[in-house]
Formats: sequence, structure tokens, C-alpha cells
Amino acid sequence: MPILTIFNMDYQTLADKYLRGSGDYYEDRNPASLDQVLAKFRLSTPEDVVGVIENAKKGFHVWSSVTPPKRGPVLMKAGELMENIAQEMALLLTLEEGKTLADSLAEVLRSANLFKFYGALAFKNGGITLPSADSSTRIITVKEPLGIVAAITPWNFPLAIPAWKTAPALAAGNSVVLKPASKTPLIVLMMLDALVQAGLPEGVLNVVVGPGGRVGDAITASEDVAALSFTGSTATGEHIYTMLGDKKRMTRLQLELGGKNAIYVDRTADLALAADLVVKSAFGLTGQSCTAASRVIVNREIEEPFRVRLIERVKRWKVGPGTAQDVNMGPLADESQYKKTLDYNESGRLEGAKLIYSAESGIKEKGYFVGPSIFEQVTKDMRIFQEEIFGPVLSLTTSESDDEAIDLVNGVVYGHTAGIVSKDHYTINRFIDSVEAGVIKVNKPTVGLELQAPFGGFKRSGATTWKEMGEEALEFYSREKTVYLGY
Ligand code: NDP
Repeated sequence: MPILTIFNMDYQTLADKYLRGSGDYYEDRNPASLDQVLAKFRLSTPEDVVGVIENAKKGFHVWSSVTPPKRGPVLMKAGELMENIAQEMALLLTLEEGKTLADSLAEVLRSANLFKFYGALAFKNGGITLPSADSSTRIITVKEPLGIVAAITPWNFPLAIPAWKTAPALAAGNSVVLKPASKTPLIVLMMLDALVQAGLPEGVLNVVVGPGGRVGDAITASEDVAALSFTGSTATGEHIYTMLGDKKRMTRLQLELGGKNAIYVDRTADLALAADLVVKSAFGLTGQSCTAASRVIVNREIEEPFRVRLIERVKRWKVGPGTAQDVNMGPLADESQYKKTLDYNESGRLEGAKLIYSAESGIKEKGYFVGPSIFEQVTKDMRIFQEEIFGPVLSLTTSESDDEAIDLVNGVVYGHTAGIVSKDHYTINRFIDSVEAGVIKVNKPTVGLELQAPFGGFKRSGATTWKEMGEEALEFYSREKTVYLGY
């Protein structure tokens, strides 16, 4: 078991230091080598959540009285500490989630930057001054934290998503209850440790690990939680939305949910570029990204030459343990992801799509490895066109015109991300104006978001009320008081 040299801890010690559950024992296993248990610990129960929230109340009392310019350096220092141990964090991320070391390292560095970015923004998270109609009045607004905010996060970006919720929440002066996915609880403990070392007071960030259905419900139901930021499946997001309504809770809610993203390859596209972007978008991160493209819409005129390039490109895509050299994609994150991917491959065949590429993973190790697969002649009514798979399965659908392509891109319930590969400005701009998605990528892979830019899905990919990342994220975690200042 690797020792984390900076922290002088192994993974078990890390879990023992921060997790205080009183529920069942849980073994955190490496999805690329099922025999490897990273740590064993007790999960939290709904009763434990009550204690965690009490702790967060104390944390809020302390942290909200620290001025924003003094909060900022704590976050920036935590970002630096994470950067210093980026390689070690990347290794744990790969061992826990399965993605390649290169992808993990990029995620760690992005997370470190998120703390630096929101640390710097803490210095200027103030209100505005407005003129008044009355000559002896000045109007100002004052930004305040909300109180205890909860973040419930998935396993696919097990560090970056917790970081992009926690960093703005802390910058705004809130205390946080963070429930990471049960599959990937350890990596956020390294983030917590960096914050503690940087000077974050006790009780300000509280990590609670336990089954979503019980612990997640206990967090959602709590009257003490002022705001809840959730990223995960649309089904769970809808459950949380309904539960808050049923309980008549006024909890501020941010939802980032599933996707069924498409890339349109138009007749003017550079086809080698298109094939490269589609393969990276569909199979990068093993297809387990909310920005992954699982559909490609191809103009009839270039269908045949595009298909040839696509197959050429995907043949060079290497599957293996994330820790191996020169690997493009690791295993699926767990057995349910593995079975779901195989089921959708079967569904594609049964519904009459034509399988034009299917790679055996070729991996001898015991792990959840599935190679990429590509179907063509996929129609709008098929499950592989409509449903989020979250695995390395790509559907190819032909369009006769740009209008039809835009209809196909929009022809699903989701609206997370969409891409176009084209050299034609008119087509590109029409695509930007007509496609219902929170993020549009032009001649770029759909995967990969920059932290300074806001993002959030449309339709059933999100609640569209609040953006994440960018300066905009601070809005969700702050409230604004309006003051009429007479003099
Ligand atoms: P889930 O919705 O199953 O789980 C997400 C989180 O919610 C986990 O921490 C889970 O806990 C928890 N949870 C489960 N049930 C409840 C509940 N009743 N109340 C509160 N919390 C609950 O999603 P996945 O983990 O499978 O993540 C994959 C999904 O996330 C995909 O649909 C993907 O598209 C989406 N996603 C969206 C992104 C976006 O920005 N829009 C980004 C990344 C992923 P536990 O792990 O214990 O079950």
C-alpha cells in the first residue's frame, strides 16, 4: 500500500483519521484489480448525519466570522498543498476510480486551481453600490454566507466535483457537509486534509460517507441545510427535488444531472479532426463523464469517409489499468457500470443497430474492463440513442441536412453538452443558436471544462437555476442583503 509521503499516512490511516461512521463496514476496492482493498471503514447512518450537522453549525459560527480576505489565503494554501502532492493524489484517484493517471493528474491540478481561484475571489465577493432617487440615500448590497450547505457528488470526477462545490461554498463563508459517492470516498479526504493543514477550522468541512438512499435523504430532509448542490443521475436529482417540495423545504437547490451528448460532423468538417474528437469525447474517461459524447450525427455526404477514419482512430485507442503506461482508458468504475454497458451493447444489437466496431478489452486482469463499441444505423427511437449509458458505447446516426442534424441533437430529454465539427461559420452559428445545451464545443472534444467558465445543463440535465464554476458559482453560495443608507 503506498504511503502518502507528504501526509505520512497510508490510505487506511487517512480513512481512520476522518471517517466516523457507525454503520456497516465497507471495503473500498480498486476497479482495475478487485483483490486490492484500499481501505476498510464504517459507513455513516442517518443518525450520524445529525451529529455531523451539529458539528457543521459550530464550524459555520467560526468560519463566517473570518473575514473574506482572511478566508481566501486558507483556500489558496490548500490549493498549493494539493499541487505539491498532485502525483500522490492522482495515484489514489486512479486506484479508487479507475481512470488513467494522466486524467487523474489533470483532475487533481484542476481541483488545486479551483481552490486558488475561489480563494482569490473571496477577496472581492462583495456587493454593489447603486444610486438612489433620494439625494440623501445611498443603496448598497451586502453579500452573506447562507449557513450550512450540503454537497452530494458522484464518483466519476470524485475530486473535481467536490472541489468545485466546496471551494466557492467556503470562499463565501459557509460550512459544508459533503457526501461523496460511496464508490470513491477516499480522494476527498486528501482534499480535506490539505484544507485542515492550510488552517481550515474544525467543523467547517465535514465529509460523511454512507449509502445515498439513507444518508443522502437525511441530508436533504434536514431543516438545518440552507442549500444543497447535487451532481448525479437525473433520477436522484428528481427524487431530491420532489422530496424538498413534499417536505415544504425552502432549501436552495442546484442540480447537475445526466446527459446524452452529441457531436455533429457536417459536410465541411476536417474528417481526421472529427474522428479524433469523437473518439476522445466518446471513450475518454471510459465514457463516464457528464460531457462525454455518446452520439455522433454525420452528414450523409461524408458518412463513408468519416466512418473509415473513425474506425482507424478507435483501433489505436488502448484499454488497460489506469496505472499502466500509454493507456487511453481504464476500467468501468464498478460492477453496475460494467453490467449496464454490456446491457446497452446487447440492446443496440436487439433493436437492429449495426455493430461496426467492438474491441475486446484484451485485459487478463480481474477488473471491470470493456473495450469501446460503435453502432451505426442508430435511429431516434432506440434506447442507445435516447438513454444515458455512461460507458464506452457510441451511436452513429446519419442526417440528410443541417436542420435534421440539429433536430437529432435536440431529440433527447437531456441538454448537457453538444459539439459540432465544421469549417462553415454559418452552420456553426446556427448550431450554437439552435441547440439546447448548456455547453457547446466547436471543433473541440465535448469533454473538458475550464474552471473560470460557468457551466450547467439544460432540460433534464440540470435545474438551470444556478451555474457551477466561474465567478457565477459564488452566487449559489451567497445571499445578498439590500441596504438603504440614509445620510
Ligand atoms: P447517482 O445519482 O446514483 O449518485 C450521485 C450521488 O447521489 C452519490 O453520492 C449517491 O450516493 C447520492 N445519492 C444516491 N441516492 C440518493 C438520494 N436518495 N438522496 C441523495 N443522494 C443520493 O449518480 P452516479 O453516482 O451514478 O453518477 C453518475 C451520474 O452523474 C450520471 O448520470 C452523470 O451524468 C451524472 N453527472 C452529472 C454531471 C453534471 O455536471 N451534470 C457531472 C458528473 C456526473 P451513493 O454513492 O452512496 O449511492
